[in-house]
Amino acid sequence: MPEGHSVHRLARQFRDVFGGAALAVSSPQGKFSAGAARIDGHVLERAEAHGKQMFLYFSHDLVMRVHLGLYGAWDFGGDSTFTGASSIGAPRRIGEQELGAESPDDDQASVSGGPAAGLLTVAGPGDYDGPPEPTGAVRVRLVSDHGWADLRGPTACEVLTPAEAAAVRRKLGPDPLNHGQGDEEEFVRRIRKSTTSTALQLMKQDVLAGVGNVYRAEVLFRLGLDPMLPGTSLQREEAQALWEDIARIMADGVRDGRIITTELRDRPSGVGVDVGCGPASRGGMGDGLPRRPNKDVPAEDSHYVYKREGLPCRHCGSQIAMKDLGGRKLYWCPSCQAG
Ligand SMILES: [Zn+2]
Repeated sequence: MPEGHSVHRLARQFRDVFGGAALAVSSPQGKFSAGAARIDGHVLERAEAHGKQMFLYFSHDLVMRVHLGLYGAWDFGGDSTFTGASSIGAPRRIGEQELGAESPDDDQASVSGGPAAGLLTVAGPGDYDGPPEPTGAVRVRLVSDHGWADLRGPTACEVLTPAEAAAVRRKLGPDPLNHGQGDEEEFVRRIRKSTTSTALQLMKQDVLAGVGNVYRAEVLFRLGLDPMLPGTSLQREEAQALWEDIARIMADGVRDGRIITTELRDRPSGVGVDVGCGPASRGGMGDGLPRRPNKDVPAEDSHYVYKREGLPCRHCGSQIAMKDLGGRKLYWCPSCQAG
């Protein structure tokens, strides 16, 4: 399942390629025909990510909500105007393809930076003559004058009124990539009020929106926190540090298109820059492709504990541990993160 950084990249992509455009909306598969009819022909005004969900706001005040879940994915294609505006490079798939997941349990981000294999042809100027025939179960197709996007296999895809969309978003916890005023305090309040372990709470979307299995394991290691520490035992400063570090490493994830949580000194390859460093890029129109100072960091250098069970800790040499917690695998260093 994509962690929040991938959904933020996706929202940025929608803003770049479809923002301000009237979209023809259809459901080639038929499952979303009624929803598509409600937004067909209207202008996309905003695209926002909130945790793992994306909200597309249209000019007539209706909102399309999409949650990719485990199997959902978007494909994009279009003419050179469209691909030039793309903040994620040439048309490619965002969803499970970007993740390169080895199993549905993995929130692993892809190491691949380029367009995913088997994707669309980029049409040259004047060569684009509309989207291809839909193949497979395309739930939604969005088409502008310059390009198109196909959605397959989402967990949720629906059209909401502004009030309904606001209600959905209120139930979600604060998103560290949205930086709203008071969000940090709200996160601190939510996580410290429950006796549930910190590790489980970091995955709860009503405590913190956007974090998945990789980020939760990595941030707990980075802060030397015992994953099993009850939320009620977290010091205020520890909870604040969690929020701030998650925001830092997830912002890097948006920039890099993959999850890298190791500091430079802890990478045997010596490749890349420290977390939170390197050129920030907004990407998008006129800004070229996002600059990715960590694009060449080898996969085996990317994480401290995630999927490193049995391997030596990068700090103390102890074996990294792994166990099942609430149906997901938890990774940690029993020495560095002792309770
Ligand atoms: Zn250790």
